[in-house]
Amino acid sequence: MLVESRRARMLRLTVHADGRVVVTMPRGMSPAYAMRFAQARSQWIADKVAYFQRKPKPLLLSANKRDYRQYKDAALDLARQRLAFFNVIYRLAFHSVTIGNQKTRWGSCSKKGNVSFSYRIALLPPRYADYIVVHELCHLKEMNHSQKFWDLVSLAVPNYRDIRKALKNA
Ligand SMILES: [Zn+2]
Repeated sequence: MLVESRRARMLRLTVHADGRVVVTMPRGMSPAYAMRFAQARSQWIADKVAYFQRKPKPLLLSANKRDYRQYKDAALDLARQRLAFFNVIYRLAFHSVTIGNQKTRWGSCSKKGNVSFSYRIALLPPRYADYIVVHELCHLKEMNHSQKFWDLVSLAVPNYRDIRKALKNA
């Protein structure tokens, strides 16, 4: 994109984070000259574009926030329902259920009995979401990943190994 600027004294080349390349030129300069100027710096432009492509995209971050707002209520409903369902078996007491925006974890459980899930459980196939709910529920009794813990998980989700493996690649 070629922009003529009243204030520009010199040609200026800018590569924006979204990949736009802007050549700003002083008024009255020949556009052909400005284009030659940009073409002569095509390697520099390519490097800059590649740099922004490698960088984490703020655009993804805002999409993530939007998804969180969109799915958090459904995730909370799901978590409450499935906790109640599986607690018929386990009968464990918990304090609160919350939905977070965490990207690296599906769920967590605190010593005080606060259970938290990523909003993304609402986007999973039900059997995966069920496993995550059962996993955190069982942490209320076993705050570790010992064999005792997995035995507890397997009461409700006998095939937990397969589901864990699939979730690692999700
Ligand atoms: Zn765990």
